[in-house]
Amino acid sequence: MTDSLEAELAVGADAFVREGEGLEVAVVGAGAVGATTAYDLAREGVDVTLYDRGQVASGASGRAAGLCYDAFADPVDAEIGGDAIKRFRAFSGDDTFPFVECPYVWLAREGDADRADAIRDQIERMQENGVVALEGDADALEDRFPTLRTDDVAVAGIAGGAGYTDPGRYTACLAAAASGAGASLEPNTSVRVRTDPSRVVLEDGTEREVDAVVVTAGAHTKRVLADAGVPIAMKPYRVQALVARAALEEPMCYDASSGFYLRPHPEGLLAGDGTEHVEADPDDYERGADPDFAKDLLERVHRRLPGADLELDRAWAGLCTATPDRDPLVGELLSGLYVATGFQGHGFMRAPAVGERLAKQVLGGGGIDAFDPTRFDGDESFAIVDGMAIDSES
Ligand SMILES: Cc1cc2nc3c(=O)[nH]c(=O)nc-3n(C[C@H](O)[C@H](O)[C@H](O)COP(=O)(O)OP(=O)(O)OC[C@H]3O[C@@H](n4cnc5c(N)ncnc54)[C@H](O)[C@@H]3O)c2cc1C
Repeated sequence: MTDSLEAELAVGADAFVREGEGLEVAVVGAGAVGATTAYDLAREGVDVTLYDRGQVASGASGRAAGLCYDAFADPVDAEIGGDAIKRFRAFSGDDTFPFVECPYVWLAREGDADRADAIRDQIERMQENGVVALEGDADALEDRFPTLRTDDVAVAGIAGGAGYTDPGRYTACLAAAASGAGASLEPNTSVRVRTDPSRVVLEDGTEREVDAVVVTAGAHTKRVLADAGVPIAMKPYRVQALVARAALEEPMCYDASSGFYLRPHPEGLLAGDGTEHVEADPDDYERGADPDFAKDLLERVHRRLPGADLELDRAWAGLCTATPDRDPLVGELLSGLYVATGFQGHGFMRAPAVGERLAKQVLGGGGIDAFDPTRFDGDESFAIVDGMAIDSES
């Protein structure tokens, strides 16, 4: 990477406060968030080790759909989403990973008045935040996206700061960039975490004391931290997705009334839906799709894309992570112990900005107040809610 590109990539976080030289940090989990954090720490001269119990991107980041957008009504989410999009654009390229610009449309159908009102309200709030989001009706959508069925649409939001990528390739690229910046990569190394002093324990019992441990272990984060005696309010939950052969150039679309999303994919289109509203076991969940999942989802996709000739290629499941207020847990939990989890199905698209901010906090900068992981005690009981669901809370 050139120096000017390096400078361009530091889009969100302010200058790092503490010198990285001489600091040792262990990052536990080489998904999109951990790989980005390791990269940003290594660039500051920190002695970083990035551990993963499997391979890079062997968790949710290797199973994600790769939709990315800044279309958030909340100002903090919008800023993070916007910074992440800038970094996706800056990092992507022939030698790294593709980032395909693609408008994002989210819609409510006629008869779904509550969601339609919520979408109108979201668009207004996004515009106040400076997000490029327009309100469209059925006619406007039909003119712009003729492949979408629009006659049943009550209202749609159309966001321009959006695109899609291959999450596995992004994560591999950032892990390689971290390594290039001096980080050590330790795949196939499951670690345990201990506090006071901060340290990681390898499977053979070897302990390594460090200045900070950053736990970005995805669905395993709660288990890793519980083992260290630190409870967090997070629950993993299962979601499913599929790839079908079909022609779709744009847009990416979330049909809020029907509860599914879709995007173009090099092999056709990628679609996914909902949420299993029960806590999943990250060591023992069904990685294949349910028997009826693809048939049911493809019927709903067909209703939205009536001209598409949909043929299932593959379907799978993975885990997302929920919190009581649907905001992630990102930041310092205890002195020398940091966490990033609870992204409610939006962790990949925020990884470039969250990793940068987390690295900055490890180096003495301020955290993201709204995501402060200490806002919960860790023993809260709460229901799992679909992260994309549109309701009065959105
Ligand atoms: C089907 C599906 C579709 C999705 N679509 C999108 C989308 O379109 N856009 C979006 O933004 N998000 C999406 N998500 C959510 C997204 O995948 C996650 O929010 C994001 O990938 C989380 O990244 P992460 O780095 O926090 O965790 P992960 O990618 O899960 O990485 C955690 C890593 O930690 C490792 N690990 C665990 N325990 C240990 C240990 N003890 N020691 C060492 N390593 C350990 C794991 O092996 C894993 O590699 C989707 C998720 C799924 C399942």
